[in-house]
Amino acid sequence: MVIQPKVRGFICTTAHPIGCEKAVKEQIDYVKSQGKLDGPKKVLVIGASMGYGLASRISAAFGCGAATLGVIFDKPASGNKTATSGWYNTKAFEKYAKEDGLYAKTVNGDAYSDEVKKEVIDIIKTDLGKVDLVVYSLAAPRRTVGDVTYKSVLKTTGAPYTNKTIDLRNNTISEVTIEPATAEETEATIKVMGGEDWEMWIDALKSADVLADNAQTIAYSYIGPKITHPMYYEGSIGEAKKDLLASSRKITERGVKAYISVNKALVTQSSAAIPIVPLYISILYKVMKEKGCHEGCIEQMRRLFGKLYGGELNLDDEGRIRMDDWEMRPEIQEEVSKLWEELNQDNFKQLTDLDGYWKDFYALFGFGIDGVDYNADVDA
Ligand code: NAD
Repeated sequence: MVIQPKVRGFICTTAHPIGCEKAVKEQIDYVKSQGKLDGPKKVLVIGASMGYGLASRISAAFGCGAATLGVIFDKPASGNKTATSGWYNTKAFEKYAKEDGLYAKTVNGDAYSDEVKKEVIDIIKTDLGKVDLVVYSLAAPRRTVGDVTYKSVLKTTGAPYTNKTIDLRNNTISEVTIEPATAEETEATIKVMGGEDWEMWIDALKSADVLADNAQTIAYSYIGPKITHPMYYEGSIGEAKKDLLASSRKITERGVKAYISVNKALVTQSSAAIPIVPLYISILYKVMKEKGCHEGCIEQMRRLFGKLYGGELNLDDEGRIRMDDWEMRPEIQEEVSKLWEELNQDNFKQLTDLDGYWKDFYALFGFGIDGVDYNADVDA
């Protein structure tokens, strides 16, 4: 079939297998170009099919020569529907890993469930013995525990918050007022995106004796500048991230060194859903590209692995790794704030890198990739 993008707001309901494969290959080539690291050898990546998790998996495999076991939640193609891009990404990753003689297996199921945890442990026991790094990179809208399904919300807390936003359906700038989350909504967001499930994973792996003595684990967070705080850091998702930080300390106390890496704001399927943040990202892209310090997920994760294995961690006061160090440089943030103030419907195309935003967005689904014929018939 001929596969074209079908975008609805911040979601694209189709994905292109060849485009996804090429995008994965580009990430692999980048990591290979950066040289080998003396890093982990057997790695579990939970949330491995897109964004930061996929980039972590690629950095571990092609940067460190690691065997990788991934956990994803993706759909294969059926009828006239394409697979999800995470499914195509994973097929491509496995293909290139195999070509390089690297072990790569993937469990496709709900990472929050006991069944998937058990399946993963069984595979580690049979194939790998023990793992020495666990990357926890889930970004999910919901989590089911027993009979209850918790839904995460992207809302502020305290008072309603009004600021500029971009409507991605029609590329217009408007004001948006975000209502505060109720206490129940914040609690549910913590259940989904906080640290409880990360702790459950590490406890399960530890009691099954599939963690190497020197095993480490890492999960990802975001802080960002003041403009985004009411929406992110001080919003419902920020509360979940504080819980994630608390879990990193509890896991470390229980004998497995757990890190939080605060990553840069980037276009991923998850970040596109947050009000205000896409507008901030498109200004940030412009400023960081102009100053020559822009990175995507793969550059961020390869740099993170360099810090974790042999480099300087430079932890902040809370003990977090700061991969947002370049994003948060004063000269970057001063310029972003200035543009944010000036920005309106008439000038936003000049003041933002909206084209760069959309290019990255389409690329998430394998579209707009150089050298792919999007009019050709492909096997979905
Ligand atoms: P993403 O949407 O690109 O990837 C999320 C991954 O989680 C996918 O592989 C998906 O398949 C998997 N997943 C979702 N639900 C699952 C489930 N129930 N079971 C198994 N797998 C499941 O997200 P991302 O932006 O890469 O986010 C990953 C982490 O990085 C999150 O903790 C996020 O908060 C954090 N982070 C993101 C940004 C950003 O700007 N995108 C910045 C800093 C930190």
